[in-house]
Amino acid sequence: MGKGYRYNKNEPIHPYPNRKSLGYGLLGWKVKLLNVWIKYYYMPELPEVETIVQELKRRVVGKTFNDVEIKVPKIVRFSKESFDKYVKGKKITGVMRRAKLIILNLSSNYSLLFHLKLSGRLLLLKPKEKEDKTKHSHIIFTFKDNYKLVFNDLRKFGFIKLIETNKLEDYFKKEKYGPEPLDKRFTYKTFKEIVDKRPNRKIKQFLLDQTLIAGIGNIYSDEICYYAKVHPLRTMSSLSEPELKKIYKGIKYILKSAVKHKGSSVDDYVDLSGKSGDYVKYHKVYRKEGKPCSGCKGKIKRIKLGGRSSCFCPACQK
Ligand SMILES: [Zn+2]
Repeated sequence: MGKGYRYNKNEPIHPYPNRKSLGYGLLGWKVKLLNVWIKYYYMPELPEVETIVQELKRRVVGKTFNDVEIKVPKIVRFSKESFDKYVKGKKITGVMRRAKLIILNLSSNYSLLFHLKLSGRLLLLKPKEKEDKTKHSHIIFTFKDNYKLVFNDLRKFGFIKLIETNKLEDYFKKEKYGPEPLDKRFTYKTFKEIVDKRPNRKIKQFLLDQTLIAGIGNIYSDEICYYAKVHPLRTMSSLSEPELKKIYKGIKYILKSAVKHKGSSVDDYVDLSGKSGDYVKYHKVYRKEGKPCSGCKGKIKRIKLGGRSSCFCPACQK
């Protein structure tokens, strides 16, 4: 029973092709699967969210909200009254990203915040475009020009919030988001200060901690470690100055390249038009367990740490 869905430890982790089987079987079986699935399921990271934000900037700024259809109430963390008061009839004045949040600023001086979590998607549909590609369309915003902004989320972990625009900074503080790695203010000095605060942290866990640096997840932390040629289990204090510089450079370089290629489409991720990002073909180690390293031709390995897994090349990464 287990073999059909559970990843084989000799193969790259990829639970998605078997996801249809989620609806069947015994309860225990399902819980077990869900645990495995959550642990290894891919979550959109900075480059994927940034890709959606850049597209929204081009396509929805100036549009006016007309209505909303809420099929799954738990995703929407504000009332219908607030919608009518602060969203309905209001224009989108700007779009921005903070960490993995997509933020639409409105002419009412309120902002809509979208978090895609594990499997959320945000799609923009033209007036006559069918919704059939969005089977899990849980929230459908309609604009005055009949375009639709659809939030679809298979796992329903995502959320939409409405916050006063001038209270956003307080919200980010409360959520303890670390600095934006692609921001000019994220200098090597800033990075070094964060490193000094967490000397005992392993590099992989350091990169994943959203309160230290915002937006890096499982894919890009693996790729950054490979770029810097450091073993993912090394502690921060064991890293030499040149290695730290290489990691800092890797954070900027890997994230920028991924944004350029519109992110990595693994599992569910698609951009605003439903298109895939093609950074996957540039991955060096992520989900490449057992495959040859592009540098030394040795085998890529996978290790577990704290409920996560990390792929790396034992020969290239010391
Ligand atoms: Zn190698």
